[in-house]
Amino acid sequence: MIDDHCHPFSLEPGPLHLDRLTLDVEDAEGAERRDEVRPTSAFYELLVQRLAARLGCEPSEVGAARARAAGADWRSYVRGLFADAGLTALVMDPAYPPIEPEKVAAFEDLSGCSLHLLHRIEPVIDGALQRGASAAEVVDEVETSMARAIGRGCVGFKTVIAYRTGLDVAPDVTLDDAERSVRESAGLPVRRRAKALRDLVLRRALGIAADAGLPFQVHTGFGETDIRLREADPLLLEELLRSPEGTAARIVLIHGSFPYHEELGFLANRPNVYADISLFNIFAPLNVAQRILRLIDVAPTAKVLFGTDAFHEPELFWFAAGVLREGWQKARAHLESCGLGKMWIEDAEEAMFEGNARRLYGI
Ligand SMILES: [Zn+2]
Repeated sequence: MIDDHCHPFSLEPGPLHLDRLTLDVEDAEGAERRDEVRPTSAFYELLVQRLAARLGCEPSEVGAARARAAGADWRSYVRGLFADAGLTALVMDPAYPPIEPEKVAAFEDLSGCSLHLLHRIEPVIDGALQRGASAAEVVDEVETSMARAIGRGCVGFKTVIAYRTGLDVAPDVTLDDAERSVRESAGLPVRRRAKALRDLVLRRALGIAADAGLPFQVHTGFGETDIRLREADPLLLEELLRSPEGTAARIVLIHGSFPYHEELGFLANRPNVYADISLFNIFAPLNVAQRILRLIDVAPTAKVLFGTDAFHEPELFWFAAGVLREGWQKARAHLESCGLGKMWIEDAEEAMFEGNARRLYGI
């Protein structure tokens, strides 16, 4: 399987930080509340049960058993997880948690997978705004950073504009509108600043990606609680998708647009739009088969890619890939019972787990 969307994980065998696995980011001081609530989440219970089974211990002993396994031989331990998950290549967004470019080789060595990097545009935009840059300067900085990323061999780009000013991107904003939005939003937190500028930058960035022949991942659907879910509805992108840049670039709407699966499935019928399934196989693992079926009920399977969105801990890659495989097996059984041919199902499986990502990212 090619994991078409993931993040950096711990390179050192430190303690297993399951406490970092939460969508709740409301307050930095909320650790106690999160500790109380976390065990009542289904995803957390499932993860702990599976880790206990893998490590051969009781659920209450997962931390200690993992420390022993990781301490004995961290590299073999991590490689075992990725091998068991059947992962061979990772398409990684290194912006969170941030890593140094020279760490790439370490991830490949530990995971046994080839690594292919994305370039996320928001750190450049946010940084420039915080330094007091004008809209024209922000556009310049983003263009320069994208050119550099292309030079370094990135396989695609990513935007989290859904976490900023939302997916309702106006494709016709001008540089004047953008400059005004920078001035008028000066009092807001940086994440909510300069909507017109962010809209303008995204359209330009899609144009650059199209010229470079590289795909663009767009965060859609749920995420951490600082996202406004209504602003992450993929249908809000419909005007952008009709602009010249939005038509020219290959655009991957990620996370199955949870919970907007049918909306995403419909959009994936546009010639240049793709659908990634990730993240909900970590944080909403109980109905993965049904969600895959809802998506491919509408989307051609040639446009669907599978990923994990795993981060921080190598165990999450293993867990998310496993949940996805089981979901797919159940979905397969349903497809057979509906009368779809065995060959069609086999082809769809190969495409979604591997072939589509190979073609899209050129890896
Ligand atoms: Zn992600």
